Amino acid sequence: MTVPVFSHPEFDGHEEVAFGHDPESGLNAIIAIHNSARGPALGGCRMWPYESEEEALTDVLRLSRSMTYKAALAGLDLGGGKSVIIADPQRDKSPALFRAMGRFVHRSGGRYIVAEDVGIAVEDVEIMAGETRHVAGAGNGGAGDPSPATAYGVFMGLRAAIKKRLDRRSVAGLRVAIQGLGHVGRELAGLLSQQGADLIVTDIHDQAVEAAVRELGARAVAPEAIYDAEADVFTPCALGAILNDDTIPRLKAKVVAGSANNQLAEDRHGDALKARGILYAPDYVINAGGLIYVSGDASSRNGTGSNGSGPNGGGPNGGGFDREDALARIAGIQDTLLEIFARAEAEGLATSAAADRIAEERFKRPAAPARAAASSALLPTWVS
Ligand code: NAD
Repeated sequence: MTVPVFSHPEFDGHEEVAFGHDPESGLNAIIAIHNSARGPALGGCRMWPYESEEEALTDVLRLSRSMTYKAALAGLDLGGGKSVIIADPQRDKSPALFRAMGRFVHRSGGRYIVAEDVGIAVEDVEIMAGETRHVAGAGNGGAGDPSPATAYGVFMGLRAAIKKRLDRRSVAGLRVAIQGLGHVGRELAGLLSQQGADLIVTDIHDQAVEAAVRELGARAVAPEAIYDAEADVFTPCALGAILNDDTIPRLKAKVVAGSANNQLAEDRHGDALKARGILYAPDYVINAGGLIYVSGDASSRNGTGSNGSGPNGGGPNGGGFDREDALARIAGIQDTLLEIFARAEAEGLATSAAADRIAEERFKRPAAPARAAASSALLPTWVS
């Protein structure tokens, strides 16, 4: 079967799509660089037992494109890229495979910087780092788990959204329905609870729910009941495609603000939320805290920044990192969202469409010389 590339429905003007093969280790991989106008394309490597080459290509093209939008709206001098290894992470991992992947990344000459994603662990990225310096991995002095930074960004973004839609300046007494109490969700629940919010929570893992009930006084509901919760804000921190034809009519909340990637099942669901008067904080804007955080660490490697701590006050790998600066830049997610909300209102658009438009204006501009020179600096661990 022929797999189309340039005429692929998800191609969307990609600058570069490279196919890497290494017969000895069995590597079959794809690197996609969507846009590098703002800087080198940073994005994770996903290892997955794709059913077909076409499925792998579709995935890498979609993921890579979304990184361009995310980095542009986060105001970073980074482009969008991603890679996939077609193999089963439970069965097919070997040092030779990751060394071959490292060499493949290296051949992109710094135009693509690899990090972790689904199926790839820090140790795997470290093996790649033996072959290339174009790696954002913990072994290179990475910042560690970006989830607390992501949660902080969602918290700040949620505050911008309630100010806009509910005219509230504080989360005290706000009813927030959180779907998913994993790395981001449980951190965010803690921040909201500290500030006096009333939490309604769900997760498919009972232990996570029990901890939130016990420690934060949250009220638990069954996973499917979270869409019907009597809440002011719905906060998806688990799966994608949860804003769809079934769930949108059920929401009581007037604001959707959460970390999950790809929350809209289809673009038209942005309009469906707007039609119901629900203010949606676009996912890739509100969940960019982790990316902003590690890019701050990256700039410290280029001669700025000094103290060595992560968003939780320090990790073993955060040398040279200016935490206050990173937190201030993450707090800027509030202003970005307010700009998006204003633009959506002025142009009669869904907030998701307004975000895309602003991002496109940023990365479709010709690259400034400083940006074009922005480089192949070593970046710390980052998970999309
Ligand atoms: P995680 O895997 O640690 O947590 C996800 C949680 O959701 C788990 O506790 C899981 O049990 C729960 N869950 C799964 N299915 C569910 C369902 N049907 N109903 C209720 N709960 C369910 O992931 P995470 O790192 O916390 O990320 C959460 C989301 O945010 C993901 O969509 C991720 O892509 C996105 N995101 C995360 C980061 C980050 O820094 N970790 C950055 C950007 C975006």
